Amino acid sequence: FCSRIPPRIQVSTDLLQNLGVHLMLAAHNSRHYTGAITDGLTRLGNKQYGLVRLEETVFSAQRYNVDLVLAMCDIDHFKRVNDSFGHLAGDRVLKEVSRRLKDCMRKADIAVRYGGEEFMLIMPQVGVDSLAIIGEKVRHAVSSAPIDLGEGLKPIEVTMSIGIAAYDAKTESGQALIARADAALYRAKQAGRNRVEVDY
Ligand code: GH3
Ligand code: MG
Ligand code: MG
Repeated sequence: FCSRIPPRIQVSTDLLQNLGVHLMLAAHNSRHYTGAITDGLTRLGNKQYGLVRLEETVFSAQRYNVDLVLAMCDIDHFKRVNDSFGHLAGDRVLKEVSRRLKDCMRKADIAVRYGGEEFMLIMPQVGVDSLAIIGEKVRHAVSSAPIDLGEGLKPIEVTMSIGIAAYDAKTESGQALIARADAALYRAKQAGRNRVEVDY
């Protein structure tokens, strides 16, 4: 801003100091906001952020008649990872799974850490026809290669169960969509884990 001020115009030090304080406040606010919506371990959005974004996308789907898909994902037998290799190894798995989830999604998609080893994926503009394909893509992205645990431990295979549901005209809210994806996830667990169940 200052570099564009013509040399004939005098800028007082007071003004510059004032400007500096405002810029510092803006930077602080931005950092606090990012901190408030981000999960510290995985750097994905947190649950609170995810729920707000979901209601927004459901509203857009209702208003503009665009597609929307929601997936609820849960790492299989994650407690065993902690019990066998320790919580630090468990944390490494959570970070790597999050990275893989993010890598396989499009820019407009939103991945959030919903709870301990549970993730919610909001995918706008994905049609109901692609549910199973998208679910499989996500499942494969997580389980296709062993995950490094560090500290001289052998890498381990990690799988995920996924329940996936699409927005339709009867969907009243984000919570309703979550409930359908959750019910599908429950079926995926019941059917033996490491699989995708679709809500129809
Ligand atoms: P299921 O296949 O039925 O989902 O079994 P599970 O073992 O994955 O599920 P369960 O709910 O029994 O265990 C989840 C575990 O996740 C228990 C908890 O200690 C662990 N966990 C939650 N948050 C974290 C975290 O931030 N770090 C680590 N290391 N573990 C976590
Ligand atoms: Mg769980
Ligand atoms: Mg689990």
